[in-house]
Amino acid sequence: SSSPHPNRSQQMAPPLPEPGSSWIKGNEPFLCLNISQDCTICMEPLGGPSGYKGPGVGPVSRAESVGRLAQCGHQYHFQCLVAMYNNGNKDGSLQCPTCKTIYGVKTGNQPAGKMEYHVIPHSLPGHPDCKTIRIIYNIPPGIQGPEHPNPGKPFTARGFPRHCYLPDSEKGRKVLRLLLVAWDRRLIFSVGTSSTTGESDTVIWNEVHHKTEFGSNLTGHGFPDPGHLDNVLEELRAQGITEDDALMEK
Ligand SMILES: [Zn+2]
Ligand SMILES: [Zn+2]
Repeated sequence: SSSPHPNRSQQMAPPLPEPGSSWIKGNEPFLCLNISQDCTICMEPLGGPSGYKGPGVGPVSRAESVGRLAQCGHQYHFQCLVAMYNNGNKDGSLQCPTCKTIYGVKTGNQPAGKMEYHVIPHSLPGHPDCKTIRIIYNIPPGIQGPEHPNPGKPFTARGFPRHCYLPDSEKGRKVLRLLLVAWDRRLIFSVGTSSTTGESDTVIWNEVHHKTEFGSNLTGHGFPDPGHLDNVLEELRAQGITEDDALMEK
């Protein structure tokens, strides 16, 4: 609400929901039973005030209020949850620091562009029984917005269109469905510093690994790689994207 240290993305950022919302349950009678626990954000007892003293929190009126995350039930000082949210990416989501359950819908800062895909009649090494899905990402260079590291400054976009490959198997198609959700939520790419070239203010991959090599594996980004699809599903889950999301958006 009234952070003394606003960050650049604040104008786009939704505030953390109040206690009693669908994410965070407020103080409830049964909390008295568990109040001897420590808050694992500030390591102070939940029965006392929040130990958080840094930037990113508003007035201290709720200092002793405990928030219970609705789905997983883990409890923290409400003020600690607010501080964690305000000091993070403020991306519209909150991740429980104990069990990693994600609340809300996490969105990224991927620049505008296009994602297309089609099936090509060739097999990938390690997937001899099916054809191949080719995904084509295209993002043009542009000017950084308020959600990017250097608003108003140009960013470059190297190597586009980028071609990526998945086996056209049941699991490969599932990964594709979830990648389409990730694209809509602007989570496939980001703007930042390339870990391979060191160039700053450029379009970079964001946490979800893609296979960019077809028919060989010279770069380590090709096939065969038996664990690849499961790894990608895990990376998507870490972004808050599961099969439920794909079904909901259809
Ligand atoms: Zn706390
Ligand atoms: Zn939890």
